[in-house]
Formats: sequence, structure tokens, C-alpha cells
Amino acid sequence: MTKAKPKRYKPDTLLSVAGRDPQANFGIVNPPVYHASTVLFPTVAALNNARDSRFTEVFYGRHGTPTTFALEEAVAALEGGHRAIAFGSGKAAVLAALFAFLKTGDHLLLVDNAYGPTRALAKHTLARFGVEHTFYDPLIGGGIAALIQPNTKVVFTESPGSLTFEVQDIPAIAKAAHAAGAVVIMDNTWASPLFFQPFAHGVDVSVQAATKYIVGHADAMLGLVVTTAETYRTVRLAAEELGASPGPDDCYVGLRGLRTLGVRLRRHQEVGLALARWLGARPEVSRVLHPALPNDPGHALWRRDFSGASGLFGGVLEPVSDQAVAAMLDGLELFGMGYSWGGYESLAIPTEPHKMRAVSEWDPRYPCLRIHAGLEDADDLIEDLERGFERLNAMH
Ligand SMILES: *Cc1c(COP(=O)(O)O)cnc(C)c1O
Repeated sequence: MTKAKPKRYKPDTLLSVAGRDPQANFGIVNPPVYHASTVLFPTVAALNNARDSRFTEVFYGRHGTPTTFALEEAVAALEGGHRAIAFGSGKAAVLAALFAFLKTGDHLLLVDNAYGPTRALAKHTLARFGVEHTFYDPLIGGGIAALIQPNTKVVFTESPGSLTFEVQDIPAIAKAAHAAGAVVIMDNTWASPLFFQPFAHGVDVSVQAATKYIVGHADAMLGLVVTTAETYRTVRLAAEELGASPGPDDCYVGLRGLRTLGVRLRRHQEVGLALARWLGARPEVSRVLHPALPNDPGHALWRRDFSGASGLFGGVLEPVSDQAVAAMLDGLELFGMGYSWGGYESLAIPTEPHKMRAVSEWDPRYPCLRIHAGLEDADDLIEDLERGFERLNAMH
């Protein structure tokens, strides 16, 4: 699709050039949206030949159209992987990655701060098919070797993990996993391909909930799995089994989102850090969970491995009633309340990490929040939060 050789360019240039070739498309800047199920072939021979090259050429709508391929090519180049496969949601991408490498009797090591629906896949869906799992402490590092069993086939990582944002030592985990012949999958949604390069840190298969920062405007669901050359075929065959393909309009929206990912993510980072620093100085806040803050336990690893921070972080309040937290959040003007994140708007929701942890301790007396810093002016957001704390204190 792309004429320029994307691998030579730095990430911000790749965001602009990857996955498009205007001269192959009447000079039009962006690739067209192809709607397709049936693809016609002129002869029986052409039909049969096409089946063999169904993953690289247009063959049948479910396997992707040129719009899908453009998105896949761009994200693979950006993340430094071999190839990418697009899905109709981030969750479908997570399932495809797990489904590709696990069968009955196998064992999965899953990080304890993994996204809730990923935990549910292990506890319910995979368990029904006879796949065992063990949750591990996000801070385990190379100590994960002690949890690897002869039937451990996958180590699933997510860093920083959902709700509590601990940073994992991915290279140390990958080293131990590879020594035992296990595949390392990473959910890289928080950092996006721009702020963490999974393949340079030993990951074999990377997952993106593109719904979040790649789409970036809260208006489409999209997932991507990026692979190495060695893992590509296994994941592609799993994707074919699952058939969870994205629609072409959503692929287009994902591609369009990529073009501005660099400017958006740096702005999310700036606004997020301003909110995190302000919250850290408030008496109502016990702890801010943000790896880019120097006093965060994950800060050294984050500095070593990441090139930036996105806008999603956590806050732990001092003990206070649920009603007081609700009074704070219900009256916020600028922060929306709802699931997902990665859009231009700020969000704040209460969270309950203690209900979603198997091996790490979370004291339920300290209410937790998840904040997504949008692209608004940080001063306005801070004023909104300040009025929120007034409501919280009035209830206390
Ligand atoms: C949202 C999310 C997913 C799932 O993505 P959907 O597109 O909502 O299915 C997976 N992993 C992480 C870390 C997420 O935040």
C-alpha cells in the first residue's frame, strides 16, 4: 500500500506516511473506504489461486479490504512488528491472541492488574475449554520463572496495568518466559505504539484496544494484534477461526486517528501530569497512581522502557463514604462518567481494584478513582475537581 519504506522513518513521520499511497488512488491523500463481502474472480483458476494468498490479497470481505490492510500495515510499522491483524474490538484482539497459542491442558500466566474483561476470558471462557491460569503480581519481574509450569504456553502482560497502573519489567519477564518456551503477549493499549515499543522489549505478540487512543474520539470500536514474523501465521489462522473482523468505516476512522496520535498523546500526557500533580498535593488524596510521577514505585522502570505517558491514571482517596465520592463525581461539569477512554474528553469514574485482584492487596476502605485526562485546558479541569472536593468534604 505504502510506496515510502516506512521502517526508515521516526514514529511521528510514520504516523503521517504509513498505510497510504495517494498515487495509487487518483492522488487522493487518504485511502478509500472499500465496503465488501463478495470479491469476484474471472476464472476458476484465479479463484483457486486467490485462496492461497487470502491474507495478503483481497479475497473475501471477512479477511479484510484494502482499507483494513492499510490500517494493519500502518500499525505494524509503528509498533515495530512484522504484521498486524485488525479486529472489531480490543477484546476480540485479546481473545484472538490467547486463542492462537492455548489449547486444552495448557497453562496461562496472567498479570493481576489485567483489564477486567481479559481476566474474565481466563476465568470463564478459557477455563470452559480446559485452559488453566495463574494470576501473577505485576511487580514480579524475573521472579515469574518460579510460576512457570511445564504446560505454561503464554505469559500475558499489560503495563501499566488497568486501574492500579503498576509498571512491569517486561524484558525480565520475557527472558524467563522465553527460557521456558512460552509466548509473551502484551496489552499495550495504555502507552499506544507511540510510547512503548513492545518488540524491542522481548514481546512476541502485542495487542491494542485501538478503540482508545488510536481511534481517539470515542466513536468506534477497533482492535489490533501485532506479531513477529514467527508468530504471525498462528495469530492469522486464529483470527480466521474467530471471524471478528472490523468494518471498513471503523478501519478508516482508526487510520484517521493515527494521523494525529502524536499531537494528541503528548497533550493527554501534559494535561494528565498537571492533574496528577495537583491531585497529589490535595489532602483528600492518599496516593496518585501515575508512573510518570517521580515518587511512583514504577517510575524507574517507566523511565527506562517508555518514551512517554498517556492521559490515564489512578487516584486513591483517603477513607470517605461512597456517598461523598458520588457527590464529588456526580456534579463534575467537564469530566464525563462512563467506560472506555482515549477520547478528547476527560473522564472520571470510581473503581474497585480490590474486587479484581487475586494476588495483590488493595484496601477497600480507600476509594479509588480512574481519571482520563482529555485535551481540555488543565486549569478548567482542576477547577472542576476543586469544586468536586468541596462537595465531597461537605458530605464528610
Ligand atoms: C478497553 C480495553 C480493552 C478492550 O478494548 P475494547 O475495544 O473496549 O473491546 C483491552 N485492553 C485494555 C487495556 C483496555 O483498556
